[in-house]
Amino acid sequence: MHNVKLGTFTFQPQKAEGFDFHVLRVKPETGLRLQPAKDMYSNIAVFADNVAVREHPDWISQSPLGPAKMGNNNFNIYWNVVCATQPEHRAEELDYMAQVDWQSMGVWLNSQYFADHDHCTCSRCNELYKRSGLDWFAWRRKEVTGYMAQVRERVKKQLVMSIQPDPVTSYERYGVDFDDFAKFTDHFNVVMFSKNYATPWYWEMITRGFKKLLKKPFYISLYVFGPGDNLVDVPTTQELLTVSVRCARAGADGFLYLTDTASQITAFQKDAVKQVDLIKKLRTFGGQPVQEFLDRVENWKKVVE
Ligand SMILES: [Zn+2]
Repeated sequence: MHNVKLGTFTFQPQKAEGFDFHVLRVKPETGLRLQPAKDMYSNIAVFADNVAVREHPDWISQSPLGPAKMGNNNFNIYWNVVCATQPEHRAEELDYMAQVDWQSMGVWLNSQYFADHDHCTCSRCNELYKRSGLDWFAWRRKEVTGYMAQVRERVKKQLVMSIQPDPVTSYERYGVDFDDFAKFTDHFNVVMFSKNYATPWYWEMITRGFKKLLKKPFYISLYVFGPGDNLVDVPTTQELLTVSVRCARAGADGFLYLTDTASQITAFQKDAVKQVDLIKKLRTFGGQPVQEFLDRVENWKKVVE
């Protein structure tokens, strides 16, 4: 039986009511670290780490189109990314994951792979690649998957791996093999952040792609309200409900809603329960997962009113 799970994904250690679980961004891409919370899961950005690159500029991931540096528009990168084979960073992050796992409910990773296509061509990576005897893509996969096996040994509680919203070329871009990850991850988190969801058809199509490919359940993370955002910059409640329904009917096993604070989640819930006509319309969009999701939304009345 299908059972749509709902979670929050916040930068602050606060829990909104009306959700099954809560994920705290203990170490986002800025590299700043928060104290983990005992009753929340902990999200860690592994290689995207502005602090590590500031302290060790030579650790940055390299490519023929320049380094994985904020502002290099050849890549979809909004922070600085450490080379995925950097041994000291790898070791430090493993210890950190084990510690955060112990202090919270488990670890949700993101940025646990190469920065993007053609990374990394630093001298160490060139040497490792040559010595491996593998082709370029197979070598990158071996590096990423091998590290994930080490992570699985250190994280004793829940381990979740996030992936980019690219069902087709994640292998060529990031060195990510979904079947390899499925051996170690408890489920997947497909990060579908966007400042609007005006074309839900596209997100639904991406979801169908992942439903076909992934051998473990997958949740989808949606963008509600980021740190420093203005109301005019963020998706509307109508878009968020519609895209959730579209992706629920395409097979997503759950959703996370990203905000800075819990009060921004509550504001979204308050606005969601007011969308009576839209909810009625969305009820016609499909079967059980859609109805179940909309039941959950309607039940938010009890916690926000
Ligand atoms: Zn490298």
